[in-house]
Amino acid sequence: MRFARRMEFGPGPNVDLEREGVYARFAAGPRARRTLIPELCLDKTFHIVTFGCQMNVGDSDWLARALIARGWRQVDERDAWLFVVNTCSVRDKPEQKVYSELGRLLTHQRGKPGLTAAVGGCVAQQIGKGFFDRFPFVRLVFGSDGVAGAPDALDRLAEDPSARIALLDFLAAYPERQDVLTPVAAAPAFDADQGEPGAGPATQKGQAFVNIMQGCDNFCAYCIVPYTRGRQKSRQPEAVLAECRQRVEQGAREITLLGQNVNSYGLDPSARGGGAGVGFAGLLRQVAAIPGLLRLRFTTSHPKDIDPAVIRAFGELANLCPSLHLPLQAGSDAVLKRMGRKYDRARYLDIVRELRAARPELSLTTDLIVGFPGETEEDFAATLEMMERVRFESSFSFCYSDRPGVAAVRMTPKVEDAVSKARLLRLQSLQNSITKESLKSLEGHEAIVLLEAKSRRQDDGPSFWRGRDEAGRVVNLRLDDVAAAGPEEVGLELAGLLVRARIKEAKNHSLLGEKVGQPW
Ligand code: SF4
Repeated sequence: MRFARRMEFGPGPNVDLEREGVYARFAAGPRARRTLIPELCLDKTFHIVTFGCQMNVGDSDWLARALIARGWRQVDERDAWLFVVNTCSVRDKPEQKVYSELGRLLTHQRGKPGLTAAVGGCVAQQIGKGFFDRFPFVRLVFGSDGVAGAPDALDRLAEDPSARIALLDFLAAYPERQDVLTPVAAAPAFDADQGEPGAGPATQKGQAFVNIMQGCDNFCAYCIVPYTRGRQKSRQPEAVLAECRQRVEQGAREITLLGQNVNSYGLDPSARGGGAGVGFAGLLRQVAAIPGLLRLRFTTSHPKDIDPAVIRAFGELANLCPSLHLPLQAGSDAVLKRMGRKYDRARYLDIVRELRAARPELSLTTDLIVGFPGETEEDFAATLEMMERVRFESSFSFCYSDRPGVAAVRMTPKVEDAVSKARLLRLQSLQNSITKESLKSLEGHEAIVLLEAKSRRQDDGPSFWRGRDEAGRVVNLRLDDVAAAGPEEVGLELAGLLVRARIKEAKNHSLLGEKVGQPW
């Protein structure tokens, strides 16, 4: 194993640790020490592991395409020399999760000297250069504003075996990213960790995620995002539209617009961001008008900022999908107030009524937290009651846990773990029964399914496919006659196509359909 001996210094302010910068700082600073860094193998192959929400999935998607455009190759884990771990800190024990993933890679590294890792996302923003100390093979850390600079940094690491780089500064405006011309099909799906709040499918052929903003100004009492992703910065609408047009030209039939709180797009205080005067409703209409775009989605929406024009858009834009993820978080006004959510249950129910008036078939999903500090049994009963009234098709629910630095850490009384867990089970059991009834009501109906990949269930056989209907529900269906070309060719040809399906049976969390006509 070859090592480059170099000087490194301890945790300090967020700085770009380029070689010259490090030596200059070392000369001036007292906290220097020696670190051995493995050289990055010149074989530019990479593999991305993505944890967390769709923002992370979107960031990983862009990073993969940017690296491919620079001559890197995206490969299976066993063949990769560079690992990018895109991290999330919303859920419990995020650091341990990342350390365990890096530990696993370290084991992998034993037979592969030269293997290098980059750590991005929320945990990288929090731990920063601490990763360099603990894992010598980590040579790049980048936060959410640092993603745009990550491809340059990785190229630099490939050329300079002694460099380690940290991209952790928050920038004043949305950091526009390199225009990536790599076709959608060239970037395979990621190992996205499903089931996080707001998480959705990993990126697939025919689908594209497009960022419209970064960061959040809401500072909900339990949430670490404003600290790890910085303040809200809206992207210029021209840049959003250009990327959407490009993705459609490359084959995307469905686009998901991404932001921590898309409803406040263009409302950034001062001149930090773009989108002023356009607003989210205006942007939505402009994107929906792109020729060839068949499906448009967006996430995530904060109820307090939803504009009546966005609600009307559900009734007016034919390609705006009939689904909305609208985080409720809690059904009790007292808890919502302590959370700092700035809406109450009456306002939330009004929004739901208006949405369903605009689009009766709208499928609503949500996020819920149980055991927030001070939550009583009556508060929890109010959450169950809201679930019954709104009848969410599905929800991401989890027990509250302290995140360092957020306001809720100081709130008391804390709810005992056992109580929170018992409440979570009750809530999830209610959700399961609502989900089941809701899916059952679709039996006999027809849906248009965007094909994603072959079914994960081995015993379904090679001609069994998985896709999503207009509302984002998973539909599995057999494509026997189209599968005649053989598994590999079918995989290439069918992903990203649409097919009409009749729903035969509702499963617990998905639908079983049968093809009606040929895919297109
Ligand atoms: Fe976090 Fe609240 Fe911002 Fe959502 S709106 S990212 S929960 S602070």
